[in-house]
Amino acid sequence: MTKTITDDKPRIHFDCTKCPAFCCSIYERVQVTKRDISRLAKHFGVTVESAIKRYTKMHSGERVLRRTHDELFDADACMFLDREKRGCTIYHARPAICREYPARSRCSYYDVLRFERQQQDDENVLPLFQITFRQAKKDVQRDDKGEKVWKWEEGKGGRRKAEG
Ligand code: SF4
Ligand code: SF4
Repeated sequence: MTKTITDDKPRIHFDCTKCPAFCCSIYERVQVTKRDISRLAKHFGVTVESAIKRYTKMHSGERVLRRTHDELFDADACMFLDREKRGCTIYHARPAICREYPARSRCSYYDVLRFERQQQDDENVLPLFQITFRQAKKDVQRDDKGEKVWKWEEGKGGRRKAEG
């Protein structure tokens, strides 16, 4: 009988221990809930008010984890990412959204990472790409030469629960 593997099956096709934590570096918004903040406060032995001030900030109307510069990806990464070991320094106190991510059996970055390392026969290859979130307008317009023109609106990129 043919074995079918779907995205809903529990088999996992990625290994975070072999990844430079791209997801902790690329998403500018890692949302935190009140419960996440309470967990952080308990972890660091500080008040909830201090945890909010020290570890979070507001971004586009949402409370998110603070970020600091990460040389590896030349971008800001989560303040709790260990820049050398490429792992989470608050693993047991990390927000719910980090526990759920990527919430499926595959991770797109890990697929690219493995593909490029095999393709280049080099385990040190670090593929870089930027994810830009845009929403296509439904109405396609044409320029003066009759070519189709799609206009895009910036979306909000972040590690967050799916909406809808
Ligand atoms: S979820 Fe994907 S990008 Fe994030 S650490 Fe794991 S393999 Fe890497
Ligand atoms: S809290 Fe940990 S798992 Fe979540 S983004 Fe920050 S470093 Fe990554």
